[in-house]
Amino acid sequence: MSRILVIGAGVGGLAVGARLAVRRHDVTIMEQGARVGGKLHTYRRDGFAFDTGPSLFTLPAVYRDLFLKTGAPLEEAVDLQPVEPGFGYHFADGSNVVVPGVDPARAARAFGEAFGGSAADDWRRLIERGGQMWRLTREPFLQSPLDGWRTLLKVASPSAVRTVAPRTTLRELGREYLADPRLRQVLDRYATYSGSDPRRAPAVFATIPYMEQTFGAWHLGGGVGTLADALAKRCDERGVDIRLGQDVVEVVMRDGRAAGVRLASGDVCEADVVIANVDAHHLYQDLVKDPAARKPARALEKATPALAGFVMLLAVRGRTPGIHHHNVWFPADYDGEFDAIFGRAPHAAQDPAIYACVPDDPLMRPNEDSEAWFILVNTPRNGDGREGTVDWSAPEAAEAYADHLLALLAARGTDIRDRILWRELRTPADLERTTRAPGGSIYGSSSNGPRAAFQRPANRSPVPGLFLVGGSAHPGGGLPLVGMGAEIVADLIPRA
Ligand SMILES: Cc1cc2nc3c(=O)[nH]c(=O)nc-3n(C[C@H](O)[C@H](O)[C@H](O)COP(=O)(O)OP(=O)(O)OC[C@H]3O[C@@H](n4cnc5c(N)ncnc54)[C@H](O)[C@@H]3O)c2cc1C
Repeated sequence: MSRILVIGAGVGGLAVGARLAVRRHDVTIMEQGARVGGKLHTYRRDGFAFDTGPSLFTLPAVYRDLFLKTGAPLEEAVDLQPVEPGFGYHFADGSNVVVPGVDPARAARAFGEAFGGSAADDWRRLIERGGQMWRLTREPFLQSPLDGWRTLLKVASPSAVRTVAPRTTLRELGREYLADPRLRQVLDRYATYSGSDPRRAPAVFATIPYMEQTFGAWHLGGGVGTLADALAKRCDERGVDIRLGQDVVEVVMRDGRAAGVRLASGDVCEADVVIANVDAHHLYQDLVKDPAARKPARALEKATPALAGFVMLLAVRGRTPGIHHHNVWFPADYDGEFDAIFGRAPHAAQDPAIYACVPDDPLMRPNEDSEAWFILVNTPRNGDGREGTVDWSAPEAAEAYADHLLALLAARGTDIRDRILWRELRTPADLERTTRAPGGSIYGSSSNGPRAAFQRPANRSPVPGLFLVGGSAHPGGGLPLVGMGAEIVADLIPRA
């Protein structure tokens, strides 16, 4: 039995904790905050409930495997519900399309009926390509420890490399397959699922719509955040010791290997293995003190950080006609948003895509005649205005931006302003403060550029006995990938 200390009770920390506990390790999780889940959280107030982080649950197989292998099926732990229809998309020319939650063929038909021309065939062909990419990359890349560019060689044959097209961007793939510019906007948006710019993210991101439409878009009754509670409960049942309010300030080293952690209180907790579920930047900048062990920090400095998000939680009176569970209002100039976020002079985009999650879930609203709206708009990170950041700390700026976005939504045909009972805002500065994600980046470093995915911090650090799990480490962010990362890390640690 090894004594394992996990820093952070985000999804990755909880998932790896549960997996290691059933392998008979002695697991303790130290969380600086007052609750588990990190970015995954359902916020409740006055009978309204909002997912303040993940609102879309995809690839449930990852968590089915985790829950089954740690004791009992996922379906017994959370209320897994298919989202049908999946997305309502609204475009700047006034056109709309409602896309089914599962089945690429039905999605293609919906696009064909809404856009005409070759839209149905185009989407079907694109998703087929996404499926081919998925089958080639899932096992050797997403479900294996990172091995730099050598990982790509595992994909093997020249024809496989042609299919994955590592030097083609998602934008270029969209141009190749999709004649309708609205379909290209839909595809571009999948780059933001990893906090990236479609003009620089690799074509392999076409695996995301493939995965979403093939394995379904899911909701968890009561909020996606209930997954965090279910994971914590599973950890508890397996004997994992979760300690809240424990701020780790240092990874303690002995004889060149990780030997425990030091807390802000000064206490030292010894361990045989330390697993960091904190952002990799925070780990290598702040917690690893030995300069020789900080090598990955240099690569992180060179990477483009992932975008951040501006969140509005709106308690709304009445019901909104034509609203779906997931809704996106696209701007006329989508590139304007990516220029604002990743350009030389970052600023909050004035005409961004607006995403709203409005679950038709009785557990997330006080009565039938109300709606809980979670609105998310992509933004630059929080900071002092330098190096791609924007200062989000001024409350007036956040309030003014919220007013602007609601007016924009009204101009795009959905005016809910006079039905808002109350609103709360969450800026990138808030996310940074509550979860220690540098700048409030949603996903650590972005996948901008063909090398980015291979340069993400590996699960095994250069320090013996120190491992990384979570959205800023391999294989990346989002609930499915974080769950896959937890399995990789659990497999790296010798069985007790
Ligand atoms: C607004 C938003 C929307 C999103 N939407 C989706 C979505 O729809 N679907 C999806 O799949 N994903 C989505 N994501 C991404 C998803 O939330 C993350 O990829 C995932 O939850 C990250 O999990 P993690 O394991 O990296 O841990 P994190 O959530 O980053 O948690 C890390 C934990 O470590 C703790 N910690 C940090 N430093 C210390 C320290 N020094 N000592 C002790 N504890 C520490 C933090 O408090 C935190 O609890 C979204 C995220 C955000 C913010």
